[in-house]
Amino acid sequence: MTADPILRPSPISTTVDFDVDGIQHGHLRLPWSRDDSAWGSVMIPVTVVKRGEGPTALLTGANHGDEYEGPIALFDLARTLREEEVTGQVIIVPALNYPAFCAATRTSPIDRGNLNRSFPGRPDGGVTEKIADYVTRSLLPLADVVLDFHSGGRTLDFLPYAAAHQLPDKAQEERCFAAVAAFSAPWSMRMIEIDAVGMFDTIAESAGKVFVTTELGGGGTATARSAGIAKRGAANLLKHAGILAGEPQTGRTRWLDMPSADCFGFSEEEGLAEFCKDLGEPVAKGEVVARIHSIGRTGQAPYEHRAALDGLLAARHFPGLVKAGDCLAVIATVEDPF
Ligand code: ZN
Repeated sequence: MTADPILRPSPISTTVDFDVDGIQHGHLRLPWSRDDSAWGSVMIPVTVVKRGEGPTALLTGANHGDEYEGPIALFDLARTLREEEVTGQVIIVPALNYPAFCAATRTSPIDRGNLNRSFPGRPDGGVTEKIADYVTRSLLPLADVVLDFHSGGRTLDFLPYAAAHQLPDKAQEERCFAAVAAFSAPWSMRMIEIDAVGMFDTIAESAGKVFVTTELGGGGTATARSAGIAKRGAANLLKHAGILAGEPQTGRTRWLDMPSADCFGFSEEEGLAEFCKDLGEPVAKGEVVARIHSIGRTGQAPYEHRAALDGLLAARHFPGLVKAGDCLAVIATVEDPF
């Protein structure tokens, strides 16, 4: 291990050239020596579309491997985007944590790395840290606008929203929320994080980028509706950035806020979850959001999870059984009640 890993070059090489005009479909090649391939590689698909001078957008999906709206929208965009439509550059990585995506798991099966807790990464770390380092030092500096798709994965389900964070630089924050509005998901979130260290979001925002993330559904699959929201949102963001011509196709978006960490509710018991509210339903402070029934014996009163604030149910645990410590429910406040 070097004293200063930043001085070490990334082991990732590319089969595309980010400096030339045209459409290139290729790979980010990450050396991965293993039993069945001594000098093998992880081959992460990438598409680059460049035409002339203009802004650059970096679009990423499957930062977590079991979240599908991003990969659906971005494999589709990579296949259909034409060079003559673009002013500037679009870099598309539909499945950023490719080993996790292929395994249909949140984290990498190679090193159990959670990519969105691995930033800024290390060139001499594990496979997941090497991907994060390449994004941080090679892709992010090229980008003006970043869209990193997320959904709930196998264990959470969300109201479909695009989101940005409150930032110390208010001009940058305004640009980020304008981009969220242009994405035009049915819901738009002023998001806080319970665990921001190591996130792509944090690195991109601290580099001054316009950064948009999403939570577009979950349960380890995508629906026709959520995939459609993702496709339209990506195109809208490229129009907003001036990379594609035309105005974003905006519809009604309702703004949500997370005013404090009280928004996040965690189960204190294990058992069988019975949600008393569905996504999008209003909840009052103190109201029961979910009951957790004991599965070890009959005759037990259920554990009741109550809302810590007035709002609506923005996210919930997806599988029917929960463990102590699982995120059970996220309550967001409505900024524009009607
Ligand atoms: Zn995610």
